[in-house]
Amino acid sequence: MKKQLLVLTCLLASTQFVTAQKKLNVDSLAGLLEVWVNVPLVTPGITNAGAPSDATILYNGNGLGAFQKKDGSPAGWRIDADGAVTDIKGAGDLITKEAFGNCQLHIEFREPAEVKSSGQGRGNSGVYIMGKYEIQVLDSYNNPTYSNGQAGAVYKQHVPLVNASRKPGEWQSYDIIFTAPLFKENGDLESPARVTVIHNGVLIQNNVTILGTTDWVRKPVYKKHAAKLPLMLQDHGDDGNPISYRNIWIRNL
Ligand code: MG
Repeated sequence: MKKQLLVLTCLLASTQFVTAQKKLNVDSLAGLLEVWVNVPLVTPGITNAGAPSDATILYNGNGLGAFQKKDGSPAGWRIDADGAVTDIKGAGDLITKEAFGNCQLHIEFREPAEVKSSGQGRGNSGVYIMGKYEIQVLDSYNNPTYSNGQAGAVYKQHVPLVNASRKPGEWQSYDIIFTAPLFKENGDLESPARVTVIHNGVLIQNNVTILGTTDWVRKPVYKKHAAKLPLMLQDHGDDGNPISYRNIWIRNL
């Protein structure tokens, strides 16, 4: 009996020892996997639509100083009493003076409350990242058109996952996360651009690969360009498109 007790005591002690040993190993392994670095502090906006402290404000109702026309002359869109900036037919695209590459962009847009046209003629504009890769801006509320040309499409390349459009006259938003393409010395493509788009809080493009420039009639192509280029907002130049924008900010990534 004594012998049995001794064996049992030894067994219990060894089990406890193994358990303690295991815990020690797990703890040290967990420690090895920990990373301690200084993560930059950013003060977020009051709401998620507000610009964080490290954002570049492109437009917040106080003038169009961040933009210019293609020829470098002052931007010609109209600033409204409510703080929105509205396209004037034929005024030309809004092009940022600063260039951007990898970025996070927040932009709000409002399609005209009065519906004058249909299809691609209804509130057509566009967010051209690097001036080359268009995320379509269109009034896609009850407005059939080709799917890879509706609101939130990577124009003529990627159909949005869903149509999250609000009614004409209501403010909408895009939050865009963009990875710029990389090129080799000889001009060949090293890695294509990628984009994620959230429309009114809804994911509509999930890190899709951009196939090249988003042209109306030509196939997408990649031609070597700078690592950073200006952002462009499209003046589509027809009657049904007095698009308005507000609260535009961008973060370099
Ligand atoms: Mg467009």
